[in-house]
Amino acid sequence: MNRDKLDPWGSSSIKDYSRLQSEFGIEPVAPLLPRFKRPSHHLSRGIDFGQRDLSRVLDAMDNNRPYAVMSGIKPTGDFHLGTKMTADDMVYFQSLSTKAMVFYAVADVEAYADNGLSFEQTAKIATRNVADILALGLDPERAVVYLQSEELRVMRLGTVFSKGVTNNMLKAIYGERQIGLYMAALFQAGDILMPQLPELGGPKPVLVPVGADQDPHIRLARDLAAKYHEDYGFIPPSSVYHRLMLGLSGSDKMSKRAAASLLTLDDPPKDASHKISTAFTGGRDTVEEQRRLGGRPDICPVFDLYRFHFAKDDGHVEKVHDECAEGVRLCGECKQEANGLVKAFLEAHHKKRDSMMKDARDLMAKSRSYLSSAGK
Ligand code: SF4
Repeated sequence: MNRDKLDPWGSSSIKDYSRLQSEFGIEPVAPLLPRFKRPSHHLSRGIDFGQRDLSRVLDAMDNNRPYAVMSGIKPTGDFHLGTKMTADDMVYFQSLSTKAMVFYAVADVEAYADNGLSFEQTAKIATRNVADILALGLDPERAVVYLQSEELRVMRLGTVFSKGVTNNMLKAIYGERQIGLYMAALFQAGDILMPQLPELGGPKPVLVPVGADQDPHIRLARDLAAKYHEDYGFIPPSSVYHRLMLGLSGSDKMSKRAAASLLTLDDPPKDASHKISTAFTGGRDTVEEQRRLGGRPDICPVFDLYRFHFAKDDGHVEKVHDECAEGVRLCGECKQEANGLVKAFLEAHHKKRDSMMKDARDLMAKSRSYLSSAGK
């Protein structure tokens, strides 16, 4: 059987999302949809397809009890559309309750281990990344942002966890890796479980929105939560998984590792336009064939631009899909429309993000002072 590969540090390839349930135990989101009064476009379009223990977070939400939304970014460069999906989920789940607190980790330890970037380099990138997520709608009043390498609690938890795992356990989850990546994984488990420490409000449901390829980190954190339940009272973290967006080059995943696949929130509209016009499509070789056979939106990254980010509403996604599949729509006009939507978004985002650099620095300083005084 050709098993799907979930590699948080490499090129993941997922051909059949429904199989992730039998292979990895990821449950479908669909049965929980009626519990959302205002589903996000990720939920209504099936982009968020899987979850673990999401109902625990929904219960907290329904009963007006505190919960945390935790995720992070590896500060290796510009925010791209794949990263934006996690950010959109964080903003959405934060917006559902005034009791929701966001913890946003800037994974500079992982950026060092995996990408060789110095802590000085990543600190500069981090501020811009934080301004991006603020521009996407994060409420800074209920958010804590920190650099992994500066947060002693994360380092301590990672060290504690290192005694509770064996090389074989890590190998079973991640495969054979360099020790630095195993360490980064343990610190990441520290990030995920930190919001439950007593000085940060104690045990509570924590939701981690991630791409499906990051599931190994969730499995490790859940194993460790169970293992250290007696010592810390940890509740296993919940997760919600989004599909991986196709790269513009037609690769399985938009990733910083494949520059040709990327569209970033930093791209000048002119560059973005060039990338879209040269993008791979699910179109046919000739106009005649496309009219006769229809296009293939399921393998088309231009369709993903509409579906994952830029379509005005769900009806618009359906329209693009059906017109493509029926051969009514041709790739040239389709790219042109996508280009207009991306251009409008980028122009507005750049303006907003640039005006929020000070807010980003303020949020990081406020978070630093909150975390250093917590529990004192
Ligand atoms: Fe992709 Fe649009 Fe062409 Fe369909 S018409 S294959 S969605 S670019």
